[in-house]
Amino acid sequence: MPNKIKAVFFDRDGTLIHEKPGTYLSEPDRVRLYAPVPEALEKLQKAGFVFFIVSNQSGIGRGYFTEREVNAVHARLRQLLKPAVIQEIVFCPHSPEEKCACRKPGTLLGEQLIARYHIDTKRSFMVGDKKADVLFGRGLGFQSVLVTTANGKKHLQKYPDLKPDFVAADMRAAARYILKKDKEHV
Ligand SMILES: [Mg+2]
Ligand SMILES: [Zn+2]
Repeated sequence: MPNKIKAVFFDRDGTLIHEKPGTYLSEPDRVRLYAPVPEALEKLQKAGFVFFIVSNQSGIGRGYFTEREVNAVHARLRQLLKPAVIQEIVFCPHSPEEKCACRKPGTLLGEQLIARYHIDTKRSFMVGDKKADVLFGRGLGFQSVLVTTANGKKHLQKYPDLKPDFVAADMRAAARYILKKDKEHV
């Protein structure tokens, strides 16, 4: 049997780091983690989860910032998250008009990670604050957690049929849910 890993995929903006809706983050100095994030990730990491970030960065496709700036933001993010380690950060650089397959809820980026890292989809989770994140996770066969930070509350009201596996007020609650589900898994 292949040695499969269990993963948590995270959305970036509005999930790990503060987002001002309608604005684009392109400066490393402005990266701010939500307060419960470092401790929550440390607990999940100790339980054996491997982390990935999957993010839509249409600001690149729209010409608001460059891929280089995004990479600088990610370097800062990795620093702030220590000792938690993000195995890989992947993002879609396209604008919605480009109709690519890698913009969430499109599952291309997730499928590539699953194949590359031999991820066990049944034991893995997607955490995000938007409808697209929930659909993305579900499309991969993961459990979906919607955090009601940033856009979460609004999307929950706007899409009553969305029904994520769990709704979490913050990352602490999300981690608690994931750890509980992980224990139940035999
Ligand atoms: Mg988000
Ligand atoms: Zn794309």
